[in-house]
Amino acid sequence: MVSLKQNDREAMASGRIAPSPCPGCNAIVIRGPSAVLGGLETRRMVALGYAWILAVGVQRRRRPRSKQALERRHDAQLARFADSADIAASRRSFRIDGTIVIRGRRAEGTLRLNERAAPTASIRRMAAADRLLLLVDLDGVVYRGADPVPGVAAVLTARANAGDDVVYVTNNSMHYRADYVTRLTDLGAPVAADRVVSAPRATALYLRERHPEVRRVLAVGASGLDRELRDVGLEVVNAGFAAERMAREGIDGVGAAGAPDAVVAGVDPQLTYLRIAAAADCVRAGARFLATNRDPVYPTERWLRPGAGSVVAAIEVASGVTPLTIGKPEPLLMEEAAHATGRDPREAYVIGDGIVTDLAAANAVGARTILMLTGVTTGAALEALPSADKPFAVAADATELAQVLEGLRPA
Ligand SMILES: [Mg+2]
Repeated sequence: MVSLKQNDREAMASGRIAPSPCPGCNAIVIRGPSAVLGGLETRRMVALGYAWILAVGVQRRRRPRSKQALERRHDAQLARFADSADIAASRRSFRIDGTIVIRGRRAEGTLRLNERAAPTASIRRMAAADRLLLLVDLDGVVYRGADPVPGVAAVLTARANAGDDVVYVTNNSMHYRADYVTRLTDLGAPVAADRVVSAPRATALYLRERHPEVRRVLAVGASGLDRELRDVGLEVVNAGFAAERMAREGIDGVGAAGAPDAVVAGVDPQLTYLRIAAAADCVRAGARFLATNRDPVYPTERWLRPGAGSVVAAIEVASGVTPLTIGKPEPLLMEEAAHATGRDPREAYVIGDGIVTDLAAANAVGARTILMLTGVTTGAALEALPSADKPFAVAADATELAQVLEGLRPA
């Protein structure tokens, strides 16, 4: 794959040239008698792919080609570079002075070909400050119920291609991440499973990271909640199972659930009296009590239906214990979403449609809000906000969202 001259290989093998770390980034640069190699030290394939390009640069010095042939060759080389580096190249340019610039999602590189001197190259990891961190609410922003919000998926795709971090945040407590991946992919939005942080996912991450002593959890909720909790290694007992045991064996909720360390509650469409009893028994016995969120209701196609807050309230009243709430407007969902990209939530722009949820949660973590008027918030409600509480920016539709985001790019 790497067409180095024999003396370069021998030089490297004999240690006459050695990798030298690039200060301030994860790149390595190897300089030899007839080639310069550069790559990201953490990505072997990146290094090899890049080395291949540079070695071709050396060949060009010996066998000049026409400009058109060279451009075609460089296009093919850069495509291979992008593939091998696992970066979706969003911008590339070839200049007649022999410099090729490529900018991808996580890095940008420059290769300078020179007829007289050895080619030089550099790869620079894009600093986090060069990339926007976008925490994007779903319902009312990307879609409204069953319908997409026109143009938003395309705006997010453009931002992801430019290198921005896009993470979806939702209070919905019933679905598993794969459900969102399927739906967002169908809409044309950029998505990966680790970039969907729902209230159940954030709850699971919170328990794993901050309460490793919690091993067994009683889950009062839908199957999506169970799966998210299991995905982080927790042993999950569904409240439906515990309730059946209570009824069948005449035992209390603690015995039926196997003395869980925590109780997590979200929307439970099959909620029963005994499920509430099982959860309350465990909380009274000392289990940690968490709520995915406390939305009192959630909209369906035709009606409002009781939300997680209604389920949580029943357990709270029955146990006398107030839970820790993960979802919006509390800060933990936003914190976990930012941490999914390894970043600080204070760097985030929250794109949401709710004043009492998205805007409040963003304020709670020190993030800025781009309030969309595509969902529950009306212009009148926005006007009524005290100036100190107004969002960072407002967008009426996808076009205005794109304009706001474009203005945030570093010069
Ligand atoms: Mg919303």
